[in-house]
Amino acid sequence: MSVSGPRKSFALLLVLPAIVHAQDLSNVEIIVHPVTGNVSYLEGNGGNIGLFTGPDGVFLIDDQYAPLTEKIVAAIRRVSDQPVRFLINTHMHPDHTGGNENFGKLGALIFGHDNVRIQMALSAYQEEPPLVTFSEDISFHINGETVHVFKAPDAHTNGDSYIHFTGSNVIHTGDVYRTTSYPYIDVENGGSFLGTIKALDLLIEVSDGNTKIIPGHGVLSNVVEVRTVRDMLLVIRDRVIDSIAAGVPLAAAQTAGLTAEFDARWANRTSRIGSPEELLRAAYADLAR
Ligand SMILES: [Zn+2]
Repeated sequence: MSVSGPRKSFALLLVLPAIVHAQDLSNVEIIVHPVTGNVSYLEGNGGNIGLFTGPDGVFLIDDQYAPLTEKIVAAIRRVSDQPVRFLINTHMHPDHTGGNENFGKLGALIFGHDNVRIQMALSAYQEEPPLVTFSEDISFHINGETVHVFKAPDAHTNGDSYIHFTGSNVIHTGDVYRTTSYPYIDVENGGSFLGTIKALDLLIEVSDGNTKIIPGHGVLSNVVEVRTVRDMLLVIRDRVIDSIAAGVPLAAAQTAGLTAEFDARWANRTSRIGSPEELLRAAYADLAR
């Protein structure tokens, strides 16, 4: 930021981003989507929030942005009057962890994979990291069922967890899986294209035909749709292998139509996240060695 301009515009520069941010989120509505039994998910702005309620208290998966906490709590109150006792971070990104500090103050104990905490520190994130971390998995025995939280292969980041409600047959995938665009692979935070294929294989393995799958972003899904995405990634992987073998550099591969028939359904054209160019960059990062 330059401080040499007229005083008035400097003041505007300081104030404007905060106003824009507040306006953006002030219009956000939190929508409760029932999934099955005591499991729902909340849609607002940021990653889908998993909500599990019952006599032992509220169990939450991710928490979007800090300015939304009040609205999120109001939405939870429509379903349960119990306190939020447990909160899981599926991974470290701010659209999933921005409410950590607020929910911590409200009494929630925050859990996440070891790498969520490590990566937040390395990336100098301002969000409050999880207080309790695990290396492989952890189980919660609450509200009448076992909730199994386990590390997925490095996919979206190196700290991705799946949350499996074993009684309700529901899995929250974090951002390993999304229905809104191509998978986004955050290579700088340990994500991997080949790891994403492995993580989707694992998701398919632990699901059955009736499993309800809550994606990190988008709408309720199922194993048939996950298989479609996994199979698409296998096709793209093979094309990238051929492209690398033919000596095609990344920049040329990004304009060679390697994802052409999938783009209408999956390409995000408004952001880097979920774009075919980013997907191919991640594939090259893994395969061009
Ligand atoms: Zn994410």
